Amino acid sequence: MGGPFRTASSLPPPTKAFSSLGRRLVLATLLFCLFFTLAMVTWRTWLAWENNLAEMNSELALIDQVFQNTLAHAIWELDRESLDQQITSVATAAPVGRVVLNILRPGQAPEVIELKRYTVDQSGVVPVLHRQLIAQPYAGAHEKVGELTIEGDHNLLWERLWSEARSIVITQLIQSLLLAGLVMTMFNRLVTVHVVHIARHLAELAPHTLKRHLKLQRAVQRQDELSLLEFQVNELQDNLRAHLERQRSDELALAASRDQMAELVEARTAELKAANQSLEALSRHDALTGLANRRYFDELKDIEFRRAIRHDTPLAVLMCDVDFFKIYNDTYGHMQGDLCLKEIAETLRSVFGRSGELTARVGGEEFVVVLPNVDAAQACEAAQRLRTSLAERELPHSGSKVSPFVTVSIGVAELDPQTMDHFDQLLQRADQALYRAKHQGRDCVAL
Ligand code: GH3
Ligand code: MG
Ligand code: MG
Repeated sequence: MGGPFRTASSLPPPTKAFSSLGRRLVLATLLFCLFFTLAMVTWRTWLAWENNLAEMNSELALIDQVFQNTLAHAIWELDRESLDQQITSVATAAPVGRVVLNILRPGQAPEVIELKRYTVDQSGVVPVLHRQLIAQPYAGAHEKVGELTIEGDHNLLWERLWSEARSIVITQLIQSLLLAGLVMTMFNRLVTVHVVHIARHLAELAPHTLKRHLKLQRAVQRQDELSLLEFQVNELQDNLRAHLERQRSDELALAASRDQMAELVEARTAELKAANQSLEALSRHDALTGLANRRYFDELKDIEFRRAIRHDTPLAVLMCDVDFFKIYNDTYGHMQGDLCLKEIAETLRSVFGRSGELTARVGGEEFVVVLPNVDAAQACEAAQRLRTSLAERELPHSGSKVSPFVTVSIGVAELDPQTMDHFDQLLQRADQALYRAKHQGRDCVAL
């Protein structure tokens, strides 16, 4: 039984390129992590940017706080050396990119001192701090002596941002990769291994292995989708096994009844054959004596006639008639007459039992014997033998005028190929001879 079972112990070769579920799951996870990382990086970078700006602002404010009074004092005192020293200190402080000091002197054009780290002017993304410098020459006096503009260091801002963005990207990537690895490992351990095991088990299934149940190799037996699948596979195997067993027993029963039927048909055929044979025998033989009947005799006579002509062999015919048989019937009754006919038939059989010799009952108490390869003289001898044999039986016939026993008159004829071209001509000759035998006084042979 081939059917749904494969005998191969290995898994079937996949028709398309094999792509593991776990790998697809990991790819999907990685893709999702990539998008998520991009979003996270954007958001966290923006936060970092805002933080950096705020940090730089507070740094600039601190520097301003430190220098604003001393600068105002130096301008008021016209202390050029201290002024230069202080402005250089401000300009070289880490977060400062550019410093502009506008010195206001009444009645004079303002003097501008500008110090910057870079030559190219940067756009205004960096924080800028404007401060009016107020000197207090004595208590309660406020004199505006200049304006200070401190601009943050553009390069420093970007540098800080980049380093933070880099670490954000790296941590996000590592996180994603670890997550993908974890998913892959977990999926492999929890699902893939068992799915492959189930596939192997199904591939090895055959009618004789249905009894072997699927058993998942798990350290802890859990109730989950896999255990449900395991249960259903085993249930299916059990059902299939029961079905196959039922089918097998049905097939056996069917085969047995088929054999029984064949035997029955055989017996019926034999019976029919036997019936046909006996029917054929009945249709060819005389019911009372068992000798060939008229019909069968008519079938065979022409065959014998043609054979003798073709082979140019002699052929003789005896025509026998029981003497005074009407009187016999009248004397002993019809039943006894039948028994007498049977006795005569028996005598005929005992005398003419050789193969090829044909004895038939052709009328009420008339019999014909066909003797192939026998000439007239031999036929006369045979006829005499028949008479003797019947006489030895001593069947009483009180009404006979020629003997106290039953006798027969016999006419003999031989085939003459020159004058005869049909068996009935030969038979007619024998009949004429019989007629003569009757007229010669009965119980004799005439040729
Ligand atoms: P012959 O010597 O001239 O032949 O005289 P026969 O009386 O024998 O001849 P016939 O033809 O006058 O009579 C034949 C008789 O044979 C008549 C008939 O009752 C009888 N017979 C014919 N067939 C049967 C049969 O099957 N059974 C019995 N018991 N008698 C039969
Ligand atoms: Mg007769
Ligand atoms: Mg007669």
